[in-house]
Amino acid sequence: MGKIVLKQVRKSFGDVHVIPSVDLTIENGEFVVFVGPSGCGKSTLLRLIAGLEDTSSGTIEIDGKDATMLPPAKRGLAMVFQSYALYPHMTVRKNIMFPLKMAGMDPEAATKKADAAAKVLNLTNYMERKPGQLSGGQRQRVAIGRAIVREPAAFLFDEPLSNLDAALRGNMRLEITELHQTLKTTMIYVTHDQVEAMTMADKIVVLQAGNIEQVGSPLELYNHPANAFVAGFIGSPR
Ligand code: ADP
Ligand code: MG
Repeated sequence: MGKIVLKQVRKSFGDVHVIPSVDLTIENGEFVVFVGPSGCGKSTLLRLIAGLEDTSSGTIEIDGKDATMLPPAKRGLAMVFQSYALYPHMTVRKNIMFPLKMAGMDPEAATKKADAAAKVLNLTNYMERKPGQLSGGQRQRVAIGRAIVREPAAFLFDEPLSNLDAALRGNMRLEITELHQTLKTTMIYVTHDQVEAMTMADKIVVLQAGNIEQVGSPLELYNHPANAFVAGFIGSPR
């Protein structure tokens, strides 16, 4: 579970070819980081995988099945948004349970699952609080908890830490990396931050103007950048 294959995926908005053509294979269990400057198409690519945007052409396969035309809810993926998108009037527990409630799960089973997710995320003592009574890092963990309970084939993160201050960002990076080691689920993580990419990724996808400049491990990119853009962006001596 969690293998994602993009074949000649293109996306235009009107006359603007935001993603000219992308081929990419993400293996089951990988931590993949999409990195590149602002406006290069990272979010668009992630939203295409999530099904929040339709491809202009090309195919997206998830675990061997053509998912190109499937709506987001049928893809088995979970998107964690930067803005958290938590319900302010609901407790942490109710926020985490929400997708299960929507899916029709009985409240007792949903509560059990939410409490298990909270344990992984060190939120056990905060379950009766409302989002307004939490720190930014805790709110981020609630958003992740709401994704975990759905047991997705992959987690999709779009700059999840950009609202946090530098110290907290460092902590959350570690937490997300540890979560990946615990769950061993595919994660795709979008950032414009090279440090995040280099410290978190198994595999980095460097984007510029909607094109993939290079795919490789942090070490491969650092030691063997494909071109001056990658070298400059990653900060390798070339
Ligand atoms: P990134 O996440 O790397 O900053 P985006 O994927 O958000 O980049 O955007 C890539 C390009 O596509 C930008 O030039 C942006 O203005 C454009 N774009 C994104 N979404 C839309 C849209 N819904 N309509 C028109 N242009 C869009
Ligand atoms: Mg973006």
